[in-house]
Amino acid sequence: MSDLIRLSAAEQAAALASGEVSSADLVQAHLDRTTAVDGAVHAYLDVSAEKALATAREIDERRAAGDDVHALAGVPIAVKDNFVTHGQVTTAGSRMLERWVPPYDATVVERLRAAGLPILGKTNMDEFAMGSSTEHSAFGPTHNPWDLDRIPGGSGGGSAAAVASFQAPLALGSDTGGSIRQPGAVTGTVGVKPTYGGMSRYGVIAMASSLDQPGPAARTVLDAALLHEVVGGHDPLDSTSLTDPVAGLADAARSGSLDGLRIGVVTQLGGEGYETGVRASFDAAIELATAAGATVTEVSCPSFDYALAAYYLIHPAEASSNLARYDGMRYGLRVEPTEGPVTAERVMAATRGAGFGDEVKRRVILGTHALSAGFHDAYYRAAQQVRTVVQRDFASAFAQVDVLLSPTAPTTAFPLGAKLDDPLAMYLNDVATIPANLAGVPAMSLPSGLSDDGLPVGLQIIAPARADHLMYKVGGALERALIDSWGGPLLDRAPKLEEIAR
Ligand code: GLN
Repeated sequence: MSDLIRLSAAEQAAALASGEVSSADLVQAHLDRTTAVDGAVHAYLDVSAEKALATAREIDERRAAGDDVHALAGVPIAVKDNFVTHGQVTTAGSRMLERWVPPYDATVVERLRAAGLPILGKTNMDEFAMGSSTEHSAFGPTHNPWDLDRIPGGSGGGSAAAVASFQAPLALGSDTGGSIRQPGAVTGTVGVKPTYGGMSRYGVIAMASSLDQPGPAARTVLDAALLHEVVGGHDPLDSTSLTDPVAGLADAARSGSLDGLRIGVVTQLGGEGYETGVRASFDAAIELATAAGATVTEVSCPSFDYALAAYYLIHPAEASSNLARYDGMRYGLRVEPTEGPVTAERVMAATRGAGFGDEVKRRVILGTHALSAGFHDAYYRAAQQVRTVVQRDFASAFAQVDVLLSPTAPTTAFPLGAKLDDPLAMYLNDVATIPANLAGVPAMSLPSGLSDDGLPVGLQIIAPARADHLMYKVGGALERALIDSWGGPLLDRAPKLEEIAR
């Protein structure tokens, strides 16, 4: 395997700037890697080799001509398939959009193009981003590069697996309940959910609009911050977009220290239901932080016990409204009834019956029920009240400590198929990530080590709203301490894909 693909995005950018390597070489090295391993991993739904190489050559020419290009120009990236890409099929993992070619770019995609990052392809995901294993993709699951018989997390398993298997140094994901962080955790990579509103949702296929948030997937905290700076920041096309500047995130990732940091460990995120190996890895990381000068306090957030239940009312409610647009009339799949009159209602029923998978149907039914007259107060309203209390618990926690730490997911990667027929077991994967979405606060997952089963464990850092720089500071510092203690990056210890892919 080419050494180029093992470089971080920051290292690739430096090699481009010094003229050691061309973007065309970098892109080709990643495309070759994909040819070699993606038959086994299935991180991509669509590889756009020609377009990526064309962008790369254009950047190479501009650099050669002495143009002032963006620092990350020429560094390739993968994009989750729920970001609309002009002229390139965007499926969101669904038969409903199997052949849909968007007429425009999502704002974050437009920013990637403006900065000159070649887009390698679109990555696999659970249908409409509903799931924790990528098994709900209509196009077959992605496999975890650490063990191909295991899940890569979800819904952004394709993006995380692409990064973990060195098919891309960077990827874009979306996190509604944990879909960037949990795949990061189970693949030994870094995943970040920015403060809600920190990255534009314009052109991201809507699922649960008050929770959806795009964010970076990468192999290092610095790389995540660099990508965040490229695509984050205000967008007038997204009414919930924040005006906060994104400059300084990469500096924060480089310069943080744990000395004097006040860490809160959340009582409710880590006890029963968390594997022993996950807890041991988390505890070891906390000890390391303490040795580096942080103080650690236990913080109780009692409402977090109800966060998952509240999410699974609010999320389906919003998703059922957002997915009403797939009606066989406007765009996407259209299926006409096989017999009887072709009425609007019957076309909708035939289209939605054929185009949606089981998990999507389950949530549309659940959400429609939760919003219906007579049940609205009992379910939807009660869930919104829980959401308010979750926000208050965060506020009182952040009055005592700077950041909160927890394991990202209760278990390591489980075998493909293990939870597919048990929706509740699947939902429980996000028990630790969901509170941050309900409150809109930023959170990151980074590898904390290996569990006793030899699989990676994720550590979650949660910061106050709009304190993304603090999250990167702490993340960068913790990452340095952890890598020092292991004597090298965790992914160096992943089994060689060439061997497991045989
Ligand atoms: N796994 C969660 C769900 O199924 C989160 C999904 C996401 O963040 N997109 O809803």
